[in-house]
Amino acid sequence: MSKSSHALTILGSTGSIGLSTLDVVARHPDRYKVVALTANQQIERLFEQCLQFRPAYVAVLKADLAAQLRSRVRDAGLQIEVLEGESGLQQVATLPEVDTVMAAIVGAAGLVPTLAAAKAGKRILLANKETLVLSGQLFMDAVKQANACLLPIDSEHNAIFQSLPHPYPGNPAAAGVRKIILTASGGPFREWESSSLEQVTPAQAIKHPNWSMGRKISVDSATLMNKGLEVIEARWLFDALPDQIDVVIHPQSIIHSMVEYLDGSTLAQLGNPDMRTPIAYALAYPERIVSGVEGLNLAAVGRLDFMEPDLERFPCLRLAFDALRMGGAASAVLNAANEVAVDAFLDERLRFDQIAVLNERVMLRLADSYAGNLEDLLAIDQESRNLAHELLSRVTGKIIV
Ligand code: NAD
Ligand code: MG
Repeated sequence: MSKSSHALTILGSTGSIGLSTLDVVARHPDRYKVVALTANQQIERLFEQCLQFRPAYVAVLKADLAAQLRSRVRDAGLQIEVLEGESGLQQVATLPEVDTVMAAIVGAAGLVPTLAAAKAGKRILLANKETLVLSGQLFMDAVKQANACLLPIDSEHNAIFQSLPHPYPGNPAAAGVRKIILTASGGPFREWESSSLEQVTPAQAIKHPNWSMGRKISVDSATLMNKGLEVIEARWLFDALPDQIDVVIHPQSIIHSMVEYLDGSTLAQLGNPDMRTPIAYALAYPERIVSGVEGLNLAAVGRLDFMEPDLERFPCLRLAFDALRMGGAASAVLNAANEVAVDAFLDERLRFDQIAVLNERVMLRLADSYAGNLEDLLAIDQESRNLAHELLSRVTGKIIV
């Protein structure tokens, strides 16, 4: 393959980011070869992807679903090895013939395969922000040690990356940066009264005004937990201190984030809200390729608004800054509690405004957790989930007592 072509593994190919990645890849068949795909439950969609992209491997988490897919693949006469379980995910994340891994599994489940890709020195296109929230130091150390290349997919971090000097000298001060400013749409309930937030239904929460995304990140966007997770993500990606990271609400989602330099300059990246732009940027970096996204028509956009986030109505954003200042494994605890809380909300077992309450209770109870290695981290993740479930078991009327 030539220098600008890549052999890819896409972890989480059936999700929102996975589909957008394949959409971009399909526009450049000479540049990208899909070597491996993975999925959790959507076997039908994965099979269709097999027909279209002819990977050499697929990995499916559950053995029974892997067996179903294996027989579909055999019946269709495809030469595809179907792997299963966590070991299957790790195997496709570290294949010697693959140079680039798109990490697009949702939640903490993405950590182990993404870390495996880092240790194998791959070029990692990181969508799975939970990897950094859970294991920031550990993951960044692994990237450094194995000389892996890390390219952010999250639109805000991709915008920041685009607005920073290359090569990045390692931290904001060395780059002449005063502030990293993350933009946030504010989600669908930006203008709702506190009291109305009690009534939010899952259907309302997963309908984001600007972006089309998976269910979990859509709920996180509505609580502003997503912005909180992104603050933690920025801390690790750019080695920034909590005080060097700001959040501004920008309802149109046209400015994807900004970098303020010491001389008063602010650089930003703008574009239509479509994840194919940051995906194409990272796929082709440092070159540029067509992504399928139209350019901006600013006259049609008309105006761009900005305002301060309201941490009273949306306390999850504050919790993320608290977790960063607490240090240790507080971010991992917060992330685990939030995954349990979001699931409970989607199952209508917890009220929308109670997601933050559960998150805070779990984080404060396990505030002094410390993890020196992956084993410790996975144990803390489990302990936090157990505590969140225990608190949930005492919920009455969808309220934590
Ligand atoms: P999604 O729910 O649409 O897709 C998730 C993918 O992960 C699916 O392919 C699913 O099969 C797989 N998966 C789920 N649970 C798994 C498990 N336990 N083991 C293995 N695989 C599993 O999610 P998404 O919206 O595509 O988000 C993926 C990641 O990208 C998340 O970390 C999210 O925060 C991040 N992200 C997404 C967007 C977006 O626009 N969707 C933007 C920025 C960042
Ligand atoms: Mg984002």
